[in-house]
Amino acid sequence: MLRLRRDYLRFPGGRGKAFTVSYDDGVIYDGRFINLLKKYGIRGTFNLNSGLMGTKDLLVQGDMEVNHEKYKWEELRDVYADVEIAVHSLTHPDLARMPAASVAYEVSADKANLETLVGEPVQGMAYPFGTYNDEVVQVLKQCGIVYSRTTKNTHEFGLPEEFLTWHPTCHHRDERLEELGDTFLANEVINRDARLFYLWGHSYEFEGYEQWDMIEAFLKKMAFHKDIWYATNMEIYEYVQAGRHLIYSSNGNLIKNPSRLDVWMEIDEQVYHIPSGETVVIDAATAMSL
Ligand SMILES: [Zn+2]
Repeated sequence: MLRLRRDYLRFPGGRGKAFTVSYDDGVIYDGRFINLLKKYGIRGTFNLNSGLMGTKDLLVQGDMEVNHEKYKWEELRDVYADVEIAVHSLTHPDLARMPAASVAYEVSADKANLETLVGEPVQGMAYPFGTYNDEVVQVLKQCGIVYSRTTKNTHEFGLPEEFLTWHPTCHHRDERLEELGDTFLANEVINRDARLFYLWGHSYEFEGYEQWDMIEAFLKKMAFHKDIWYATNMEIYEYVQAGRHLIYSSNGNLIKNPSRLDVWMEIDEQVYHIPSGETVVIDAATAMSL
């Protein structure tokens, strides 16, 4: 039988799928949402405007009214202790409508503030209002941002080609949420790259639209599947980068992994574990069973 080789990235442990969430603005409902994430073993990323912490406002969206109050600076370390914190700009302007110098300030100042908080480099981001253009993307790169989430819902499960315009699968109020969740869970991943379900939103919407029960039921459905890797945005970024930086011998029979992360690949329907710093021979004898 003719077999032409195609190599596919798998997630840690050889898993075919990953699930992540990304929530914006640092409002006081994040704590309740983070407790739900912990209850269901789900990991995620919270995008904060460090220049607006401690502010209070009322948000009106159509018939929905909700308290738009943000955590105080001194509360952040406890609330976000077990999740990834990422940049959402200092004061939440529309970056696509600002000069590059102001974009650089909004991104760098927020990044620097958050780094003081977490004690390590912060390189993730979500665009305020989801807006960007080529110039904004260039400025992010120069500021040391490596990925940034948009608000363009793909309704798909592909990994991003370009992490600085990382399009999510859907918002939690998307009418296709349940259907997409069911499709994601039902399909076995074979002969294709690993799949990612990327959910985003704002926790104040759970309060304003009375959707706490809905989101808990959805998280419960997505939780504790052994073929799903639950990871933050940055964990996914770093893993995919490690996968994209594997070094191949000319005939492809040797794969070297120079990164600090172990990588798993599916080749000819076999899954290979390629440990950090090692070179693996690609033949059936070194494959692990699926
Ligand atoms: Zn926002």
